[in-house]
Amino acid sequence: MEDDEEVARGFDKITDIDQSKDVWVLAVRIVDLWPVIGKYKSESLEMIIKDAEADVIHITLPKEFLNAFKPQLFLNQTYEMENFKVSNNDSVVKACDHRFRLTITGATVISKQDFPDIPMASFNFKDFGEVLDGKYRPDLVVDVIGAFQDVTNTNRGNGRLRSITFTLKDASGNILHCCLWDDHAKLCADEFDKFDGTQPQPFVILVKHARVKPEQAPYPLCFTNTWDGTRVMFNPPLLDVALFKEKFKDLPSDALSLSQTASQYSQASQFSQNTDIMSNAKFLSLAEISNISQELSCVTVAEIIKLNATRHGWTYDGCNQCTRSVKLEGDKWMCYHKHKNDEPLPRYKVEVTAVHKEEKIRFIFWDDLSASILKISAAELRKKMVRAGHTNPRTYPKTLDKLLQKKKVFKIKALPGGNPCSVLQVSDSEPLLANLEKQFGLVEASSSKEPLGLEMADIGTSSKQSVSLGFLELSSKDTSMVAVESLCGENDLSVTSSTPPAKRLSMDDTDSEVVPATQDVQPTQRSTTKVTKPPRNTKTPKTER
Ligand SMILES: [Zn+2]
Repeated sequence: MEDDEEVARGFDKITDIDQSKDVWVLAVRIVDLWPVIGKYKSESLEMIIKDAEADVIHITLPKEFLNAFKPQLFLNQTYEMENFKVSNNDSVVKACDHRFRLTITGATVISKQDFPDIPMASFNFKDFGEVLDGKYRPDLVVDVIGAFQDVTNTNRGNGRLRSITFTLKDASGNILHCCLWDDHAKLCADEFDKFDGTQPQPFVILVKHARVKPEQAPYPLCFTNTWDGTRVMFNPPLLDVALFKEKFKDLPSDALSLSQTASQYSQASQFSQNTDIMSNAKFLSLAEISNISQELSCVTVAEIIKLNATRHGWTYDGCNQCTRSVKLEGDKWMCYHKHKNDEPLPRYKVEVTAVHKEEKIRFIFWDDLSASILKISAAELRKKMVRAGHTNPRTYPKTLDKLLQKKKVFKIKALPGGNPCSVLQVSDSEPLLANLEKQFGLVEASSSKEPLGLEMADIGTSSKQSVSLGFLELSSKDTSMVAVESLCGENDLSVTSSTPPAKRLSMDDTDSEVVPATQDVQPTQRSTTKVTKPPRNTKTPKTER
């Protein structure tokens, strides 16, 4: 570059910049530019400049030179810039990964010049898959684009929204949390409040200047905002968003359409916009589920290792018009809804053992879900068994082994006190499974003994202040609590397809056979459930094979 005949210096490369001199001469384009309000309201202008090699460096225009330079500095314009103070790029959060950064001084010269070869400003989207694989730097600013899934947590202090956490899905199906604070949280909450079902799908959220915050139990791995430079955009009319939507369109849905239950539960939340298995449910490990103190709906990871042989066998006496159980009244079999049946209809109630990390919990597959997995109704299967000579209803057909599953993602209605949990939905998505395991690996290891449900119950019933639970910091207005409360009271569980039948207060039922009261009819109606002897003892076939 340097020529004995020339007095002017040639252009330096950004990649060569170090502290050996001040007199760097650069041909650059401003590819990022944001004002920063400092501690004492002193404003500076921060920029990222790029050269023809597409290398970038952070440059600061301090307050004292704002008037001199700011009027001529614009995003995407090209300039010749020379003479800077060079310092180490050692801030906690770095706008780019150059070892050094520049500061404009009284000696700096900036003139507008045309350098059309220098690439234009673009987003620096971080790949979700890389983040999940641990390939990220927590000290580096990144941009985020994803399809909004669900609000998983809100955090209020002194009546004001402090943070909001939601999940985003990328165009490859990876899901990551995004936790935004203060003004950004308010912006999101205001936007989500507008949801009325008419929003475009996917609802794309773009976060400029975010950073990746590593998992730190009980906090999951997430994107979070950084500084004044963070900008959150909802479905902005940008080419990048259009391209994202195009790619996202081809993505298969995470949730199997085995059960529509999730959509009914998700109506409890104004935020829920889909029937994704992650809808309106937080993740709890089996260990955490075994410690809850109130009924809740959650997503968990488990392996179904065996069928549990119980005294009621694999079916219950169901109604032919709904999923409730029936009992003999006079000469008719009646369900809770007073549907009349000539004969009870066998419906699935299959208890299994779910295991994860040595924690075992009982799950129940109810009628709809079992039938869709086994591809045969309980009545048909019973008939087949009888035709094959197996007339005892407690004989377990081999077909039921199909309910045994390798490790999968389950949405369940979890019950306290070691009662079996009802399976609401199963997802076959391996990316979702991998995501959840990566995101919550630490949570499972460290917080398994926290009585999570108890704390949630306390908050929901007695405290109006928010209580710190780390990531799961909740207040009485928390959206996930709204969902839980609705599950217990507002929703008519009887219309839910996977709803268990009404409790039978049979004298001779073993513990595992009793459907817990929380799955029963609503509290005000519970008195209609009468104590009767289990009718199947007199009516169902008794013949041993
Ligand atoms: Zn009925």
